[in-house]
Amino acid sequence: MSKRVYIAYTGGTIGMQLVDGRYLPIPNFLQQLMADNPAFHHPELPHFTIHQYDPLLDSPNMTPGDWSRIATDICDQYDDYDGFIVLHGTDTMAYTASALAFMLDGLGKPVICTGSQIPLCELRNDAQDNLIAALLLAAHYPIPEVCLLFHSHLFRGCRVVKVDADGFDAFQSPNCPPLATLGIAVEVNWAVVQRPFPPSQGDLSTHLPPINLQTIREPGEVGALRLYPGMSARILANVLQPPLRGLVLETYGAGNAPTNDPAFLQVLADAIARGVVIVDCTQCLRGTVDLSKYATGSALADIGLLSGYDMTAEAALTKLAYLLSVESDIEAVKTKMQQNLRGELTPP
Ligand code: ASP
Repeated sequence: MSKRVYIAYTGGTIGMQLVDGRYLPIPNFLQQLMADNPAFHHPELPHFTIHQYDPLLDSPNMTPGDWSRIATDICDQYDDYDGFIVLHGTDTMAYTASALAFMLDGLGKPVICTGSQIPLCELRNDAQDNLIAALLLAAHYPIPEVCLLFHSHLFRGCRVVKVDADGFDAFQSPNCPPLATLGIAVEVNWAVVQRPFPPSQGDLSTHLPPINLQTIREPGEVGALRLYPGMSARILANVLQPPLRGLVLETYGAGNAPTNDPAFLQVLADAIARGVVIVDCTQCLRGTVDLSKYATGSALADIGLLSGYDMTAEAALTKLAYLLSVESDIEAVKTKMQQNLRGELTPP
């Protein structure tokens, strides 16, 4: 039987049209382009359904409520399709891919986020290749993870960062190898692929475990703050004010922050005492936080900052929003924040 793929079309450059010199997402434009393009009628492609969101979004406008809407949509269609594609703008795709990974607990089918740097309507574009590759992978490669496909790689969604505003190779997964590389052949690195349950419990194709959808609440009461030399305790205190419940602090190197100003550390300690969860992630693209390495890191651990290990800031932020939505016990949030839930971090 021919495979079936569900496309959740949320917006992004891939389906945009040039209107008065600026790109805008225009309803039904992408579907018309695909209908007129013989490549999308190729017999090797799976049967696919496009569900267009209303409104279509340029992805900087995405909110946690939109993440939850996409996750709910996938769950509603879960039994009827072999795989899922989320067509999305590249600007915040790494956040959405991470958020989906946490919300779709027990996922047993591929969910592939993709988009493009140049819209499908342009003669020279990366949209057609990305979309066709996503269709083939979603249909024929049973990788039970939320992934992000771009250019020549399929990445774990909760490991990616957007690294290039212009190039076709716009995403990287600095601390986790790609799940698949697309060259003349598609090479899947099965050793890296996560299973939703141990293989001993049965064959995935016949015994699909139930998916456990847990959505992220809106508004997200979490934030991220990038340290910079000279940041005052007062600025930090303002950021940590209610309603903030969780903060990803983007620190230097192995997770270090200034320790010469006692007021700076006191502001962090006071927030933690009030119940704010603070996670330490490095500003570096590669490598991990290790709070035992320097005094400027251990001082943070001593007052209760959590190590984000090698998580991206995107994964840490969405994980914090997810855990604060689904856990009522703050200690459980802290414990799980430092555990590997979906392959988002490498435990020490
Ligand atoms: N601004 C666009 C978006 O994120 C960029 C893109 O899709 O590449 O929706």
